[in-house]
Amino acid sequence: MIGELPIYLDYQASTPCDPRVIEEVTRALENSLGNPSSSQHEWGLRQRNALDEARARVADLVGVGASEVVFVSGATEANNLAIRGFCGGTSAETVRRFLVPTTEHPSVIEAARVVSKQGWEVVWIGASSDGTIDLEHLESEARRGAGLISVMAANNELGGLNPIQEVASIAKSHGAVLHTDATQAISHPLSHVDQADLISLSAHKIYGPQGVGALIVRNGLKRLLDPLIVGGGQEAGLRSGTENVPGAIGLGAASEIMGAVREEEAARTAVLRDQFAVKLVERVPETRINGPELDNRLAGNLHITLPTVDADVVIANTPGVAMATGSACASSAPAPSHVLKAIGMPDDEAERSLRLSIGRFTTKSELEAAVSQIGDSLDRALGMDSGRVSCR
Ligand code: PMP
Repeated sequence: MIGELPIYLDYQASTPCDPRVIEEVTRALENSLGNPSSSQHEWGLRQRNALDEARARVADLVGVGASEVVFVSGATEANNLAIRGFCGGTSAETVRRFLVPTTEHPSVIEAARVVSKQGWEVVWIGASSDGTIDLEHLESEARRGAGLISVMAANNELGGLNPIQEVASIAKSHGAVLHTDATQAISHPLSHVDQADLISLSAHKIYGPQGVGALIVRNGLKRLLDPLIVGGGQEAGLRSGTENVPGAIGLGAASEIMGAVREEEAARTAVLRDQFAVKLVERVPETRINGPELDNRLAGNLHITLPTVDADVVIANTPGVAMATGSACASSAPAPSHVLKAIGMPDDEAERSLRLSIGRFTTKSELEAAVSQIGDSLDRALGMDSGRVSCR
């Protein structure tokens, strides 16, 4: 516990807002008079300038041009705009085949289901046992034709980094547009997300506010996207509605900080995460670490399967540690994670699995306390019952 609150090991669901971002957002709210589309007076122009400054900061983080940044409400909307916008807006000559891995975030999977009802053939691409994409499967399907490929740059459950450079070269050689959901990967220094044509981002995964994000639309593609929300034509016509200026400023500030600290932060976090994994396995020797090798995954991600006890039971009996069984976006659904299913993990193992994610503000002493609380909780659960302990 930190005071009355649990130790926060759920950074992949949402990162705490950085105090420097809070300061900029607060100032933005204090100065929020004026609509950025009101070009006839000083108040509106000031808001427009603030928005453009934020756009440039986001663009710098990704390595794209400022005019390619479209502000939206978060990565769910960015993924929908990329996939539904592209599939809905392309010409009759486009190959209406969409290649997408089974391990994607629900916002990509559900968007794929929508476009499949609109005449697109959706081809589900398999995953390797560590949750990263099966590149050979992708390549062989791309050879049969593809208009759009969407591959997340890093998985939000198992933390594995997909080889976006290789995926981009497959897309390019087969004439497909590539979308990548970079929501998690943008905090990783070697994610190569700038190789994609459409890139989704969310502020609250990089220490910015919730409810704001961006879709990067590389120049030339803007005219091909059909907007999901129409109206006043803001954001180059791709996302009507008055922009969330304080939110965009928060995303801009978070992006600039991330760009400045990304390498050093990922290195520090990976060391902490590796020590955490070692201590956890020492305390609970039958713990299995899932996903890719620790050096091919997000620095702050650890995914484990516990011996004998259901993860729900451990979570309920460890109130001092905030952790998750999987993606927050799917955690209202009682079914085992689709990502764990996709890598062939049996349901009973999936039910014993936990995602522990750390980041900028995690300390070594918090992780030591978490190891001992998780270990004690397992001991208690096993003391209650010598067989499988389940709350289902
Ligand atoms: N994609 C990935 C990989 C995510 O982890 C998330 C957040 N869980 C999203 C998309 C959705 O982001 P948002 O909360 O900004 O809608």
